[in-house]
Amino acid sequence: MPIVTTRCVVLQTYSYSDTSKILRLMTREHGPRSAIARGALRPRSRFGGLIEPFAEGQATLYVRENRDLDTLSAFELYRERQALGSDLTRFAGASVLCELVMRLAPEHRDDHLFEVLVEGLDALLGASEERVAGTVLGRLWLLVSVLGFAPHLSHCISCGRPISAGESARFDSSSGGLGCDRCAGYGEAISSAELETLRLLVATGDGPPSVNGVQRRILIDFIRYHLAEGVRIRSLDFLARGIR
Ligand SMILES: [Zn+2]
Repeated sequence: MPIVTTRCVVLQTYSYSDTSKILRLMTREHGPRSAIARGALRPRSRFGGLIEPFAEGQATLYVRENRDLDTLSAFELYRERQALGSDLTRFAGASVLCELVMRLAPEHRDDHLFEVLVEGLDALLGASEERVAGTVLGRLWLLVSVLGFAPHLSHCISCGRPISAGESARFDSSSGGLGCDRCAGYGEAISSAELETLRLLVATGDGPPSVNGVQRRILIDFIRYHLAEGVRIRSLDFLARGIR
């Protein structure tokens, strides 16, 4: 039974039997993994308080061939990030980041994706109160792009005409891009300033100081349509209600 030591982020945990926990991990070296932490719910477990969602550390895993579930034998904590739980918007944003990684990360090493996750969680943790909502949107758009689902923001998806700076447009979540003002179609009307903000969010992950309901709806509808694959992402519902 090979032993693997890997840097990882705890994406999600749930109880298993009265004493153990199942963890969903994003590892840097091996992509997403599931592991059981035996005895983690016992009062004096060596894992006590360490393996919580958003925590980052070095996991030692026993990996059995042809088994989906590894066994966690040790966890050295690097960063706990429990403060994300003290604010609804930060918590919702971090939960959506983790849930999207859990569902859509490739089954192999992806250093860039791992860094976008880690830096996203740290950005949510460190954002000032007035920048939290913009940071959530920016970091989620960046993750969406890195996962391979970037929206089309340069051309009209109907006529192919470039949409330049200073033009307003519509964002059609179902087709994943912009419709120009000359083409009939569906979608959320966005001003030229909002379009510039959206382009910035998608390209850099850096949000403006404040965001409005249009930006929030565009992101949430887009994730529901293109990334959720018909599955209800609970943390996204939470985000739709919670973000200010
Ligand atoms: Zn057009």
